[in-house]
Amino acid sequence: MPEKLIIIGSGPAAWTSAIYSARAELKPLVFEGAYSDENRIAGTLPLGQLALTTEVENYPGFPAGDLEGYLDSALPKEKRMEMPPHGKDGVNGPELLELMRQQAVNFGARIITEDIRRVDFSKRPFRLNASDSKTYEAESVIVATGARANYLGLPSEEKYKNRGVSGCAVCDGALPRFRNKPLAVIGGGDSAIEEATYLTKFASKVYLVHRRDKLRASKIMAERAESNAKIELLWNRTVDEVQGNDREGVTGVRLKSTVGEADLELPISGFFLGIGHTPNTAFLQGALELTDKGYVVWTAAMRTYTSVPGVFAAGDVADDYYRQAITAAGTGCMAALDAERWLAEHGT
Ligand SMILES: Cc1cc2nc3c(=O)[nH]c(=O)nc-3n(C[C@H](O)[C@H](O)[C@H](O)COP(=O)(O)OP(=O)(O)OC[C@H]3O[C@@H](n4cnc5c(N)ncnc54)[C@H](O)[C@@H]3O)c2cc1C
Repeated sequence: MPEKLIIIGSGPAAWTSAIYSARAELKPLVFEGAYSDENRIAGTLPLGQLALTTEVENYPGFPAGDLEGYLDSALPKEKRMEMPPHGKDGVNGPELLELMRQQAVNFGARIITEDIRRVDFSKRPFRLNASDSKTYEAESVIVATGARANYLGLPSEEKYKNRGVSGCAVCDGALPRFRNKPLAVIGGGDSAIEEATYLTKFASKVYLVHRRDKLRASKIMAERAESNAKIELLWNRTVDEVQGNDREGVTGVRLKSTVGEADLELPISGFFLGIGHTPNTAFLQGALELTDKGYVVWTAAMRTYTSVPGVFAAGDVADDYYRQAITAAGTGCMAALDAERWLAEHGT
């Protein structure tokens, strides 16, 4: 018997789809990915991108600080339900994802810790080949395989990930370690400029480091960077080493010149990558319509439909614009509801 619904992925989009579809009694089977060296190196281990970070300050419902105190100030004690004690530090990425996964399990989601390697969406039931060499069949599928931030691949960059090196300015820029400090963004396209501009809200100064002598970004974005007094553009420079120490994390960066000038050492407290993302869609080539950057195409506004009826997409795999845990969870919910309605209409 084919499964009613297979979900591929293990970030906020996949677990939210699993929670909703399990509660709707679709008995979803989730492929959360394998704990392989290949996935470790790519940054795509189970639990997804948020498992690579520490504090998550912007996921609603998990405030850092004294929850009792917040509630006291919002509602008199006698009007409140009894609350369990709450930690003072909010939530960190891996914890948040473990909680989502557990919530899906509590409603009956089944999980296989393997990758999906190939799919055949040409007819129903759909066929999916996994890294355990087995083939699974499903009436409907939700693709929630996410994306990964591109890094330069330097050992020094790896060493200071989460200690000053970040692939997400919107996610991490407001953290105390970056406030009123000089920061650097690497890249020259629209997303690098967006990251740099965003960081000027918190930083004392932002260096935008680009390996060429002009920005790749659109004219309007380039003008925005050039006219921002807090952004200093450093042309014709590549990164040689992220510098730091165990106590403080990142303390600086050494830049090489692409035009024969001397090396430059900048004291900085944060090193942000603005060199794009890679969606995890290699296994979908030829099976679903993808954009030229490899993202799954949503074929209808405010729906998670893909080019194949019965296959839905949620989260960063189809979103190269918002790229946040809460938006991934939101579209994960939408995909589960879309799949449920589609299955009902198709009598399965
Ligand atoms: C360093 C960093 C910090 C961040 N901090 C924040 C933050 O503070 N707040 C915030 O809102 N957002 C943050 N983000 C962004 C957030 O993590 C993403 O927007 C969100 O995780 C996207 O969720 P997703 O469900 O689409 O998939 P992802 O989190 O990308 O997870 C998808 C996962 O699916 C699995 N998978 C992939 N391919 C397959 C396959 N073929 N078979 C089976 N499984 C597969 C892999 O485990 C993959 O990692 C951060 C991102 C990074 C990189």
